[in-house]
Amino acid sequence: MTITKILTVTAAIAIFSGFGCMAFAAGGGGVLTDPDAMEGKHFHPKGKMPSKFTVEKQNNLRQQMPFGDKKDFEEQKKGFIAAPNFKQIKAEAGHVAWDMGSYMWLLQGKDFDSIHPSLQRQAILNMNYGLYEVIPGIYQVRGFDLANISFIKSKTGWIVFDPLTAKETAKAALDLINDKLGKRPVVAVVYSHSHADHWGGVRGVVDEADVKSGKVKIIAPVGFMDHAVAENVYAGNAMNRRLFYQYGVLLPRSPFGHADQSIGKNVAAGNTGLIPPNVIITKDFEELTVDGIRMIFQNTPGTEAPAEMNTYFPQFKTFWAAENIVATIHNIYTLRGALVRDALEWSKQINVALYKFGQEAEVMFASHSWPRWGNARIQQVMRAQRDTYANLNNGVLFLANQGVTINQVHNVYEVPESLQKQWAVRSYHGSVEHNSRAVINRYLGYWDGNPTTLIPLSPEDSAPLYVEMMGGAAKIIARGKELYEQGKYLYAQEILNKLVYAEPGNQEAKDLLADVFEQIGYQQESPSVRNSFLAAALELRSGIPEGASPKTSGPDVVRAMTTELWLDFLGVRLNSKKAAGKQFKINLSTPDNGEKFVVELSNATLTNVEGFQADDADLSITINRSDLVQTMMGAVGFDEQIASGKAKLVGNRDAYEQLKTLLVHFDLGFEIMPGTGARDLTPEENTFKQEELGRTDGG
Ligand SMILES: [Zn+2]
Repeated sequence: MTITKILTVTAAIAIFSGFGCMAFAAGGGGVLTDPDAMEGKHFHPKGKMPSKFTVEKQNNLRQQMPFGDKKDFEEQKKGFIAAPNFKQIKAEAGHVAWDMGSYMWLLQGKDFDSIHPSLQRQAILNMNYGLYEVIPGIYQVRGFDLANISFIKSKTGWIVFDPLTAKETAKAALDLINDKLGKRPVVAVVYSHSHADHWGGVRGVVDEADVKSGKVKIIAPVGFMDHAVAENVYAGNAMNRRLFYQYGVLLPRSPFGHADQSIGKNVAAGNTGLIPPNVIITKDFEELTVDGIRMIFQNTPGTEAPAEMNTYFPQFKTFWAAENIVATIHNIYTLRGALVRDALEWSKQINVALYKFGQEAEVMFASHSWPRWGNARIQQVMRAQRDTYANLNNGVLFLANQGVTINQVHNVYEVPESLQKQWAVRSYHGSVEHNSRAVINRYLGYWDGNPTTLIPLSPEDSAPLYVEMMGGAAKIIARGKELYEQGKYLYAQEILNKLVYAEPGNQEAKDLLADVFEQIGYQQESPSVRNSFLAAALELRSGIPEGASPKTSGPDVVRAMTTELWLDFLGVRLNSKKAAGKQFKINLSTPDNGEKFVVELSNATLTNVEGFQADDADLSITINRSDLVQTMMGAVGFDEQIASGKAKLVGNRDAYEQLKTLLVHFDLGFEIMPGTGARDLTPEENTFKQEELGRTDGG
């Protein structure tokens, strides 16, 4: 199979915020199954096997890490009821939305030296697939998407917790439980938080008319709608491009490529929709009884997501930890790009849950991973997670207060040994390295205090001087090879990276740096970090892959976006250089929802203010919000809205014509590593052209 073919059959593009987890699938082509993966063949002609240094490192880890502790495997399979008779779930658009079959090579009982042993363990645990009983009355379907979907058996139906990313996978899960346990109507849905892998599939389990009539309750934490839509709009295109790295969206699934995503295998690539909640939980703690099920909600804003809540079920003595406690330490900083999270607040909210519910809970389950049973076990996991987040925050600040900087802390900060030995708090999603730097970034920002790093040269500008001083490309390659042969990969990347920046056309240099990245990737416990190194290696070897799938952040999501957010994003899309010297004021009003804005271009900058109209506006535009949303989605051009009379313009139309010529569309195909061939993606590949406004985040 040629590399191009492999790569054109692509995976989904996930839009995650921090994939906090978060994620939003942009779904497109079929998901990749590489037949070579089963046989342990590398998918790339230039790919290398793990070096003797990598093999030795993995062997040592197999000796040192607590592999004798098999508790997770008992918990992961406990309560298994049935698996479906299929491994793939098709999207309505025809492509494969989900393919558990593409990871079956993990279940051969082999040790893969190209995968960190602890990550391989997690990757196998995440092969959970099918319907599971948590306790009588509470069930989960796992392995149908990045997250789990959970079902509480109420008096007359199901209460669904977190209906996955895609309509198709959520529907398949509902069909499975109805088939195995008897058909029941969905009477309520709970969105635990604002990341799309927890709500995007809602249309697969409920009909919006039943939500509007109040027959079905959709319950969500305070701030849900704002954060579900807003978290990733402004920097959305950059985040999507970086997902190629963090989520390895174009990496083949293989022992040498994508193996896992910490909190599940991957993200489903189907229809993502959003039905707004009709019940919002606003207090710190709030109790509701729905169809005979008592639920005590705990709002935990500022943790894994800006809007998130845990739930306690007193009649079952069962605690739902949302995504606050899963089988990994999570991202404080998510590599796709997102605001840095608050490790201390996260720890505190776990502590509150521990004292409020953890004293009597007999079962703990969550939106990813597998449940924990028995009060002692629950308290052990809660304490370990509480302490790991707190230690990260406090331990890093302890060092920062003694002068350790953001450029050093990842090499200095260490997780306490007693925590390192507990599987429940290994740093799969957020590595210790990138999370420790994140804590400094949160409190002190990116500057280390050394003026040299305050206004540094750009890497492409400093690199030629380094290469000249080091004696040229041949010397650097020779030394780079030596370091590679000695297994000193971090040193090798230091000098080869300079050469690649100085000579982006030097394929020998790019191939050698790719070899170095690959070994570093194989050695990583965190799949986010592993994927980033392996994706960069792939791009250095053969350019930015083809196959970014056409995505579909559905109309629901755009509909939920405020007009102000959309106007803000127009400001981001403005070509400021081209706008120099131009100015106008536009009054925009949307009568059906009573909103008014002044949109002003001045000083090559587009701003907006809500609630005002300018007396001296050049132009007034009136359009109903319900029509404007069609333009926001890219379904109907604004010119068409004018032609059909839906948009009415009064005044000087030049302002509108000018604005049109000043806005750019962002392209996903920009270069990250030098010399990897920035290219214009085809419309099919480019997931972002028309729908840049509708992305949200996860992870
Ligand atoms: Zn999630």
